[in-house]
Amino acid sequence: MAKTVRVVFLGGVGEIGKNMTAIEYDDDIIIVDCGAEFPHDDSPGIDAIIPDVTYIRENLHKLRGIVLTHGHEDHIGAVQYYGEEFGVPVYGTALTLGLLQRKLGERNAPVKLVEVKEGDTITLGCFSVEFIKVAHSMAGACALSINTPLGVVFVTGDFKIDRSPIDNKKTNLKRIKEIGDQGVLLMLGESTNVERKGRSTSEKVVGQGLQKIFEDNTDKRIVIACFASSNYRVQQILWLAEKFKRKVYLAGRSMKSIVEVASKVGELKIPKGVIVDGVGKTAPEKLVIIATGTQGERDSALSKLSKDDFGKGITLGEKDVVVLSSTPIPGNEKSVYEVINNLFRQGAKVVYDSMNDVHVSGHAYEDELRIMLEHVRPKYFMPVHGEYRHQFKHVELAVSTGVDPKNTAIPNVGEVWGVNKGGLRQHSNVTAGNVYVDGDIIEDGACVVRDRRALAEYGILIVLASYNSKTHSLDGDVEIIARGVNVTDEKHLDIVRAVNKAVNEDETRQLFEITGAVKKAVKKQFYRDRQFPVVIPVVIED
Ligand SMILES: [Zn+2]
Ligand SMILES: [Zn+2]
Repeated sequence: MAKTVRVVFLGGVGEIGKNMTAIEYDDDIIIVDCGAEFPHDDSPGIDAIIPDVTYIRENLHKLRGIVLTHGHEDHIGAVQYYGEEFGVPVYGTALTLGLLQRKLGERNAPVKLVEVKEGDTITLGCFSVEFIKVAHSMAGACALSINTPLGVVFVTGDFKIDRSPIDNKKTNLKRIKEIGDQGVLLMLGESTNVERKGRSTSEKVVGQGLQKIFEDNTDKRIVIACFASSNYRVQQILWLAEKFKRKVYLAGRSMKSIVEVASKVGELKIPKGVIVDGVGKTAPEKLVIIATGTQGERDSALSKLSKDDFGKGITLGEKDVVVLSSTPIPGNEKSVYEVINNLFRQGAKVVYDSMNDVHVSGHAYEDELRIMLEHVRPKYFMPVHGEYRHQFKHVELAVSTGVDPKNTAIPNVGEVWGVNKGGLRQHSNVTAGNVYVDGDIIEDGACVVRDRRALAEYGILIVLASYNSKTHSLDGDVEIIARGVNVTDEKHLDIVRAVNKAVNEDETRQLFEITGAVKKAVKKQFYRDRQFPVVIPVVIED
């Protein structure tokens, strides 16, 4: 059989989040990105969702390294859980590794980190991986040109083509074109903003939008919420503060520590004396507060400020303008708007929509995706980093730039695709999907999450009974403890009757079988009302 490069999709396809792809040839595997996903409303109490890595565990002897495209959570957020176990070096640029180290430190996970610079090439088994500068909403983002024995696999990573990035480091289209000229076997292209026509707006425009806020609100304190990892955004705010002679107070633990990381690796220049430790001595109209919490996170600085629960001598009111330099990630809208409502209640002026040029996307729009495709000119194309509709549209776009429709495919989580010069084919499926983290990885997390959902929706019922093995019936009363379940007197009687019946039904059974029968009988009492409480039967033998 002809040899193929195998691409194993462990996350980040058919979804936006927890990106992880393994590239395999013969006895070598490398992992591209190892990310986490924000928990959804339907996973109560979960901290993060990370990829199932059964396939990697089964093939650990082949694993040569993990390469990271950039430092966003959906690309690095699972390294803290798997890095130590995998035991291979992790490669990334300075900011990526700085952000990762911060997380590894919190969990005390020893992982070997190897810093690369844009333009570097590393060798991992039969692969060599070149890191190519791309613009994104944070510094240190790279596309990867992965040389395999059968040709180049080109991974765009998250990118945009910003004509005026604030660090003047543009997406290296010149190098990408050279790689395209030499021939690219397979391209994995990010698809996030394929639905948006035209081009994304330059990060510099946000600087202009924010400058207007500074100009129009000289008598007010300015509070700006943005992602701590958006070093370009934070940089522009620091520059504006210097220009308008304001001091900056960083609100939120992660804002402080990430700003420190970014400045340490040289991706953030902090003007001397601009940042203050507390707000005490600074007049409000001479202050800018940069806060975490753009996604409405409950414990974030912005959320606390909105409820006047932040402390540290800061209470928002009419003399404040609050800017949300962000858009809600789908699924977070409700909590974001709750924070915005509360900010209005405090009397603050709130600026939160893109009309004001206070936020731009870090992901390429349609025209930029087309430019990327025209530079790479891959033989085979697979869209990643998107839900199905994004992937579907990205395939259409690729075809419009000349990729043969037969040479495209939309991958799903768990699929293994093989590619060589003769074709692109799905080989097989591997175990893949969601692993839930609540403090630590939850074994059998899907069950735990299912139980939590059932508890939240239908409540819990504990049924206590004592079984007499001589008479094959119950001694005493059936006791019912209900939490979050509506047990009327009538329902109570029904349950007691059903439990007795279940116990008396068959005299030959063992205790565990009787317990099972009790559970089934109790659950049945709720089916007709379409209720599915968690039932815990406790049957003790006398
Ligand atoms: Zn990103
Ligand atoms: Zn991403």
